[in-house]
Amino acid sequence: MTKQTDCGHPKYKRIAANREIAGLVFEYKTEQCTNCGATLWSSETEILFREWLRKQKAEHPDKFTIQDIKIPLDLYEFAVDFGKRHSVTETDVFRSAIAIFYTHQDAEMISNMKLPKFSQDFVTKKLRTNPVMYLRIETDARLLDLYKGEVVSEIIKRVLHLSQKGEEKMLAEMERLLFAA
Ligand SMILES: [Zn+2]
Repeated sequence: MTKQTDCGHPKYKRIAANREIAGLVFEYKTEQCTNCGATLWSSETEILFREWLRKQKAEHPDKFTIQDIKIPLDLYEFAVDFGKRHSVTETDVFRSAIAIFYTHQDAEMISNMKLPKFSQDFVTKKLRTNPVMYLRIETDARLLDLYKGEVVSEIIKRVLHLSQKGEEKMLAEMERLLFAA
């Protein structure tokens, strides 16, 4: 185990630390710089954290729910139709859209794309995600200073818009994921 953080100071002490996600607390032991208080997040800790996350998913499946996702009515109806054609629910379609976004090689292009004017009417949804997805949404929410529901709403709007436009790569991705689900 490396005993240095990025701060470059030479002295560390062993401490108990924790990290909170979705109201659940991961406790771990780590090294803390005695000079500036920087703590080390090692690859070993990362492995333990991922294992812990998997356990939380089994034990608290509802904790990783994103609330208050506003979806323009026209896109919502598209998702319902798209789902029907593939014998899945619109919820599966939304979940696939998030999964596609976070694994897409053009995620940055998708983030920056200009969106058209959607319907002014909205459907408000909540969506159960998995811990890994939840973590990414939470990180983005912090970076962008948005609510988690807003982050998800922006992702869904973009991916569904591309699908609705008949962007072939996006449609193929959606179908691949829906059939894999
Ligand atoms: Zn330091």
